[in-house]
Amino acid sequence: MDYIKETLQTPVAGSYDVVVCGGGPAGVCAAIGAARCGASVLLVEEQWSLGGMWTGGFVNPLFDYANKDGLMKEIVDTLKERGEWGGFWDKSFNYEYMRAILEEKCAGAGVDLLYGTRAVDIIKDDNRVTGIITENTDGRHAYLASCTIDATGNAHIAAKAGAAFQLGNEDGDCQAMTLMFLVANIPEDYIKGKMVYEELNDAFTAAGKPERVPFKVPYLIPVPNTHFGVFQLTHMRGYNPLSARELTNATIEGRAQVIEVFEAFKRYCPAFTGLELISSAPLLGVRETRRIEGEYTLVAEDLAEGRKFEDGITTVTFGVDIHVSCGTEQKCWPVKPYQIPYRCLIPRGLEGLLVAGKTISGSHEAMASYRVTGNCAAMGEAAGFAAYEAVKQNKSVRNVTINEILSHKQ
Ligand SMILES: Cc1cc2nc3c(=O)[nH]c(=O)nc-3n(C[C@H](O)[C@H](O)[C@H](O)COP(=O)(O)OP(=O)(O)OC[C@H]3O[C@@H](n4cnc5c(N)ncnc54)[C@H](O)[C@@H]3O)c2cc1C
Repeated sequence: MDYIKETLQTPVAGSYDVVVCGGGPAGVCAAIGAARCGASVLLVEEQWSLGGMWTGGFVNPLFDYANKDGLMKEIVDTLKERGEWGGFWDKSFNYEYMRAILEEKCAGAGVDLLYGTRAVDIIKDDNRVTGIITENTDGRHAYLASCTIDATGNAHIAAKAGAAFQLGNEDGDCQAMTLMFLVANIPEDYIKGKMVYEELNDAFTAAGKPERVPFKVPYLIPVPNTHFGVFQLTHMRGYNPLSARELTNATIEGRAQVIEVFEAFKRYCPAFTGLELISSAPLLGVRETRRIEGEYTLVAEDLAEGRKFEDGITTVTFGVDIHVSCGTEQKCWPVKPYQIPYRCLIPRGLEGLLVAGKTISGSHEAMASYRVTGNCAAMGEAAGFAAYEAVKQNKSVRNVTINEILSHKQ
């Protein structure tokens, strides 16, 4: 490969107690959590919306919210107050209200939010992360941070800082990816949501394409109070989530599946002749990517035994749910409610950095359980509290105690 030498002079655009990278369920809760404690907080999000997979990925229902207090409960309560909660399995929400509510809560907490801003690199002093480099329409900037939280959903910042990470199962294969898509005019019989395997299989068979259904457990998931719904159905396998080229190819394959599935439904499934295709999701659904190596790594035995930890920050009840990388199956098994230790958020060997969301330290199987959004939100909030305490007391994130974290829970 040829190289071009760049000499960059990057202006410092700001200095904050806490900088959060990524505004998905984990990042938005981290930013609000830290800001409500009194920290100055910058939240950078590369899209033009908060919520990550909640909104850009058209994900519903919201799993593992019911046993959560704090911000997760507050967000759901606000959705309920606005009449935009319920629908599928009584735990679904309207994407646009979710976007608006998250923006309101960030503004209310005093979070400094920057959209269209990608965190591209880190600033480091020895093993301490001291800030990030961003790029957006204004150019390239540095933001200094006493504590940085990586909530990018792919541990981009931790990897830039040199954190060790794992990828995939024992063969290095990651879970299948899915491009969710939005449809309108859902038939009355399906308005509460349904599995649609039989219908789609029959439709494909009638179209002369038997065995074509991309996933054995496809769901039509209605958006509350509308005749809109999303299909959790396309499945793209064998793509590397750390390659832009492969993510591009997965997206293109996903779009082709959307059209193929939609046309099969519309032409060959009597219940769906009135169905209208609105849009694929703005964000490709990548179930699995980097998992950092942290001070503790959650493994399958922790889940099977329902292990509790002295630094447990939240309890997970959602079972293991693996959309396999080969075949159309979903491998699922239940867990005993277990805790996520705070140590899973601390990347080994680095200071000034926490990781929150699906990329914390856990095995392939463990991640397949705690990755659902109620848990990511709770991890984010705890990371925000911990970052505030580390900054306030001028100490390592490693020395923040669980009592200090929990003392901020409302
Ligand atoms: C297809 C699919 C279906 C799912 N279904 C469900 C479901 O029904 N219920 C459920 O609860 N969970 C579901 N999940 C799991 C859940 O959506 C994710 O595990 C969860 O959203 C992870 O949250 P997060 O905050 O870690 O990351 P994300 O939701 O991925 O958010 C990360 C955010 O960071 C931003 N970002 C990334 N890199 C940068 C950067 N360098 N700089 C700035 N911003 C950046 C992204 O734009 C994004 O907004 C599903 C996942 C997939 C893929």
